[in-house]
Amino acid sequence: MEESRNFIENIIDKDIKEGRCKKVITRFPPEPNGYLHIGHAKSILLNYGLAEEYGGEFHFRFDDTNPTKEDVEFTESIRKDVEWLGAKFDSVLYASNYFDRMYECAVKLIKDGKAYVCSLSADEIREYRGTLTEPGKNSPYRERSVEENLELFEKMKNGEFEDGACVLRAKIDMASPNINMRDPILYRVARMTHHNTGDKWCIYPMYDFAHPLEDAFEGITHSICTLEFEDHRPLYDWVVINCGFKDEPEGFPKQIEFAKLYLTNVVTGKRYIKKLVEEGTVDGWDDPRLVSIAALRRRGFTPESIKNFVKLCGISKSNASVDYAMLEYCIREDLKFKAKRVMAALNPIKVVIDNYPEGQTEMLEIPNNLENEELGTRQVPFSRELYISGDDFMEEPPKKYFRLFPGNEVRFMNAYFVKCESFEKDEDGNITAVHCTYDPASKGGNSPDGRKVKGTIHWVNAETAVKAEVRLYENLVDEELGVYNEEGNVNVNPNSLTILKECYVEPSVKEAENGERFQFVRTGFFNIDSKDSSREHMVFNRIVSLKSSFKLPTDK
Ligand code: ATP
Ligand code: MG
Repeated sequence: MEESRNFIENIIDKDIKEGRCKKVITRFPPEPNGYLHIGHAKSILLNYGLAEEYGGEFHFRFDDTNPTKEDVEFTESIRKDVEWLGAKFDSVLYASNYFDRMYECAVKLIKDGKAYVCSLSADEIREYRGTLTEPGKNSPYRERSVEENLELFEKMKNGEFEDGACVLRAKIDMASPNINMRDPILYRVARMTHHNTGDKWCIYPMYDFAHPLEDAFEGITHSICTLEFEDHRPLYDWVVINCGFKDEPEGFPKQIEFAKLYLTNVVTGKRYIKKLVEEGTVDGWDDPRLVSIAALRRRGFTPESIKNFVKLCGISKSNASVDYAMLEYCIREDLKFKAKRVMAALNPIKVVIDNYPEGQTEMLEIPNNLENEELGTRQVPFSRELYISGDDFMEEPPKKYFRLFPGNEVRFMNAYFVKCESFEKDEDGNITAVHCTYDPASKGGNSPDGRKVKGTIHWVNAETAVKAEVRLYENLVDEELGVYNEEGNVNVNPNSLTILKECYVEPSVKEAENGERFQFVRTGFFNIDSKDSSREHMVFNRIVSLKSSFKLPTDK
C-alpha cells in the first residue's frame, strides 16, 4: 500500500517535477538556549527524513545569533540528542560564523536604498509602528542618504554608539497590513560577549534577518518551521530576494510552516521546565517525568519509538494536541519483542517452600522472551526461599483473586506448582513470611496430573536476588487541575514519583549496562537509570506499564 504523502512532500515533489529543485537541502536550526524536547524531535526527524528520502542533505546548525540567552552547556546536549535520534550530518554549523557575510548583506541593502539607520528610541519605534488596525508612521530618519547610512552603520559596528542608540531597519512599508513588514529592525547595537566570536561584534543581526540569510548561505531549499512564523514569511522572502539570493518567493530557500507538536497535559515550555528544575521539583532537565529528549532517553524510550511516534502524529497545518498514551504505545510496541523478560518482586514478600530441601539450589532454563526465540534462554536459580510481589499474596482475598492465599495453589512461573499453607505476621500486622509447599512433579510449571491452577505468579530466588530501587512514574501534571494554575505555575501531581527502595530482581540483571531495558514480567517495561544506578545500588525506572486502554485510530 502506498503511504499518502504529506503536504510538504507534495510541495517538494512539485519543485522537483517542475525542474526547480535538483537537490533537497533541509536543516534543523536550534537556538542553544535550552534542552530539546519531543517537539524538536519531530522537527529533527522531519527535516532529516526528507533529506534522506530525496537523497539530499541535512544541515545541523546552531542559530547562535543572540548571545544573551545562549549557553555552551546546551550546545553539547543538543548535539547529543540529534545524534541519538539518528539524524546524520556532515559537520556542526554555527550561524555566528556568518556574521561577516550578514554584515555585507546589510551594507548591500543600504547601498540599494533598502535599509536605513534609525535613531528613534525603542519606545518611539513601537509607537510609530501602529497597530493591527492602524497603519504605522514613517520614521523621521527614513530618508537619510545612502552615504549617511553607510557611515552611521559603520560607526554602529565600530562601537561608536551606546547600546540601543540606533538600529538598522529595512525600508519596506510602514502601512503594510503585516506588521512584520513595517520597516523591521535588522541590526541592533548590543555589547555582549559571544561564545564563538567573543567581543568582535557589538552589533548583532535580528532573527528575521539572520535566519533567511543562514538558509540562503547554505543553499537550503526547503526551510521548514512552525506555524507561528507564517506571518514572517513575506519578510523571509524580502530578505532573501533583496540580498540577491532568489528572484521570486517560489525560489529557494523557501519557508514552509507546519503545526507544532503539543502533548496533552504535558509541560514543554522551556521557562516552565527551567523553573521546575530550579525549584528542585524535578531532578534536572533529564528527570524521567519530563519530555525533553534527554529525559525520554533516561526514562528508557528508544529512538525507534520516538520515530514511530512522530510518524503516527503526522505532519499538518493545524495545531492539535496528542495524547501521551500514544508515546507509551510506541515504546511498548518497540520493546515487546526486543526486551528480555525477567522477574522482579516489587513490595516483596518472602515465601518459604517448607518441603524444598534446605541448602539446595537448582537452575531453571527460562526463555528470555516467549514471543522472540532469538533472544535465547537464561538460567535462573530457584531454592527454598523466594520473594514474590506484594500484590500476589492476600490474607483474605476478594472474589476472583487467583494468586496466592491460604489454601490456594498457583503456578510459580516456569518453576513449580506451589500451594500456600500458612503465613506469619509481625506485631504491626505486616506479612513477614508466607509458608508454602511445592509439587516436585510439576517442574517447569506443568501440571503433573491434569489438575489446574488459575494463577501464575513470578518469583525471585532470595539468596541470589539483586536488591534494587525501583522508581514508578505518573504524569508530572495533575490532570484534574490542568497544566498551569492561575499564577502560571505547573500543577504538580503529588504522586508523579513513587520510590520503592527495596525491591528484588533476579540476578541476570546484574551484568546489564546502565540504560539497558527489560520487561519485568506482569509489571512493566523498565530500564536501568543512567544517572543514579551503580553495581552496588541498582536503580530501575519504569518506562511504561504493560497495559493501556490506548488504541490507534485504525485499531478495531
Ligand atoms: P520552545 O519555544 O518550545 O522552547 P523554540 O522554537 O524556541 O522551542 P528553537 O531552538 O528555536 O526552539 O527551535 C528549533 C526548531 O524546532 C525550530 O525549527 C522550531 O520550529 C522547531 N520546534 C520547536 N518546537 C517545536 C514543536 N513543539 N513541534 C515541532 N517543531 C518544533
Ligand atoms: Mg526559538
